[in-house]
Formats: sequence, C-alpha cells, structure tokens
Amino acid sequence: MKILGVMGTKDTGKTTLVTKIVEKLVQKQYKVGTAKYSHVTFDLADRDTGRHRQAGAQIVIGTGKETFILFDHPRELEKIISTIEFNDGLDYLILEGFKSSKFAKFSVSDLKDEYTIQQVDVKTLDKDKIDELVKLVEERSYGLLQDLNCGKCGFDSCYEFATAKVQGQAPDIDCKSQFKQALLQVNGQRIPLNPFVQNIISKTVTGMIDSLDKDSDSIESIELMVRHKEK
Ligand code: SF4
Repeated sequence: MKILGVMGTKDTGKTTLVTKIVEKLVQKQYKVGTAKYSHVTFDLADRDTGRHRQAGAQIVIGTGKETFILFDHPRELEKIISTIEFNDGLDYLILEGFKSSKFAKFSVSDLKDEYTIQQVDVKTLDKDKIDELVKLVEERSYGLLQDLNCGKCGFDSCYEFATAKVQGQAPDIDCKSQFKQALLQVNGQRIPLNPFVQNIISKTVTGMIDSLDKDSDSIESIELMVRHKEK
C-alpha cells in the first residue's frame, strides 16, 4: 500500500485536492482509503452513538451498512496504517492534514518539507493537471518505511530512499522492511521484520494452525494477539 499526504494551511483546498486524487485513482481501478487529521471532535450530535460517547464510553463503534470506530484519544498514524494494511488490502491511502508525516506529499499552500513532491495551486486544477498529479502519485509515493536502514534498496537509509523517491530519483523497490507475510506489534508499536523473519513467523503460526486440523489452503490471514502480563 502506497501512501500520499496532502498538506496545507487552513482553507487552502486540501479536501478539494484529496477528493480529485481519490476520484482519479478509483477510476483507474485502485482500491483507495483516506485518513484526515482533525482538530475538532467528530460531530455525532443527535446520534445514538453520540449519546454513548456523552455517557463516557472510551470507544464507540457503529456498524451496519458501514462501520466506524471512534476512540476518545488520538491514535498514532503508524498504528492506524498498520491496522489498515493488515486488514483491507488497499492500493493507496491518502492522508489529509498530517503535515509532519514522512510520506510523499503535495502541499496546497506555502508549507514545504523534504517529502513534498510538488506545491499545487488548487485554483489551477483541471483534468490534465489531475492526470499529471496522479501520475506523480503512482511514480513517487511509497509505503510505510520502518527505519530498518538495511541498505538493500541501494540507499544507505530509509530516509535517503524516501527523499530520493519524492524527487523522482528512486525506482519502486521491494522494501525489505515492509509487511509481506507477517506483521508484529509490541505494545502497539510495529517491529520491523526482514523477509526471512516474516517467513519463519508465517510458517510457524500456519503450521500450528494446521495441527489444529484447519484446512491451511483456505487460510488467507491469521491474527494472533499475545498478552504478556495478565491484566
Ligand atoms: S530496503 Fe526498505 S528498510 Fe531497507 S533501507 Fe531501503 S527503504 Fe529502508
């Protein structure tokens, strides 16, 4: 899953650009998700779930035709991304407003950092410009890097890879730290695993499930959570 951020100061067109990019990526048959950073609380007034929250629930879940989970505190972006990556098989995740994130970004204002692909004036957006931007997204965005700094992509560090990638000076890589077969989180923090270790964990756990007489050919993914100390 590749990730793109759209950043900018208030009311400069972040949402406009996000929606145009999402529409174009979906037209191209990609599976797309979005995440938005918000300074305000989500408005659930007059909803049953809003009353649950007012009553003091720390987590409020609404499910039916759609599902949402609302925590009463911020979640780290990397934790959110790990959860989505494991469960939903998206091609792209588009972030709105996470200006300090270390992913490839478009800026719709004068904000700029080393991960910025391009500054975009949303007033100039037309079909050709959107096509150009989405091509840049395909070529220059990348997935969650884990600071493993293994050098196997030809760059000395993940940071060097990322900054070269947003400038169009690095190819798509098979990043050795990215989740392929196994994802490990300790205390909610993702632990970088190289492919060899991912393979060992995957084979070990699948073998264990096999021994429980489950048909391993029908298994697509396994989720295993371990609590080290009883709460
Ligand atoms: S292969 Fe991935 S983990 Fe290794 S240095 Fe390159 S970006 Fe970082």
